[in-house]
Amino acid sequence: MSISKIGVIGAGLMGNGIAHAAVLSGFDVTLVDAFEAALPKALATMNKNMDRQISKGSLTAEGKVAALARLTTSTDYHALAGVDIVIEAVPEKLEIKQSIYDELKPVLGPDVILASNTSSISITRLAAISGRPETFIGLHFFNPVPMMKLVEITRGLATSEDTYQAVFALAEKLGKTPVAVQDAPGFIVNRILCPMLNEAIFALHEGVGSVASIDAGMKLGANHPMGPLELSDFIGLDTLLSIMRVLHAELGEDKYRPCPLLVKYVDAGWYGRKSGRGFYDYSTTPPKPAK
Ligand code: NAD
Repeated sequence: MSISKIGVIGAGLMGNGIAHAAVLSGFDVTLVDAFEAALPKALATMNKNMDRQISKGSLTAEGKVAALARLTTSTDYHALAGVDIVIEAVPEKLEIKQSIYDELKPVLGPDVILASNTSSISITRLAAISGRPETFIGLHFFNPVPMMKLVEITRGLATSEDTYQAVFALAEKLGKTPVAVQDAPGFIVNRILCPMLNEAIFALHEGVGSVASIDAGMKLGANHPMGPLELSDFIGLDTLLSIMRVLHAELGEDKYRPCPLLVKYVDAGWYGRKSGRGFYDYSTTPPKPAK
């Protein structure tokens, strides 16, 4: 099973990055989004990010033109006919993913692989609703996709060995380092990282340290490139809260309980960098601790 044509559904943050990495690695990519306006926005982002790569010397102007020529966009799922794999990167809602899998049924042949970039939904559950559990797999990229090396690959109970091998080889061709992960909430990285970030928010909540001292502590004392509160703002506090809620609900242990301060910030609409305020205030450069 070899892959040369890739379909990506969802042209948001992740789908755009996956399409970017795939065209730069020589694949033909069809990027589909249900919302017409999402496609020119994704193309503009890709253009800007490729220009940044050119200015850093990791891409040539000719390489950019050739990569973008391998990209087609559409709002119609029928444009995916003929691809070898579809990577789904639509919002983290089971009912949205299910409706897309239903629409794909008449379009994709039986050998086409369907991969989901889900961060938290069970791969076995998604595989079952896709109606093609043997060719269904989890392929979890990290943000920003063109920069981040890791891909977590998760088999559902029924995923075939051929599907797994083909997707593992694809991840390597995309320049990524794949790791195999069991189908468990949060997979590896979010299972370990998110409770650490939540704990940093508990430390702030209990007055153990200020925003600045907690971040300085973990940068200088644990050699982390970003402090945990800065990183929480970057991920998005709403996203962090939903991952903690999944870990808490599915693993059923108090140690995954979301910090009340995190819940309060999300209730206030303080989502971090993307909303202009979280643990830091992003209206100034550099951002200042918000309290
Ligand atoms: P996003 O909101 O940035 O993008 C989602 C895109 O899907 C949007 O462009 C939207 O228009 C499109 N969409 C919505 N409904 C659609 C439909 N019915 N058909 C086609 N397109 C549709 O979301 P995102 O952050 O890119 O997340 C996508 C997936 O990736 C989620 O499952 C998320 O859990 C996962 N993920 C996110 C991150 C992250 O850091 N944001 C990291 C790893 C995995």
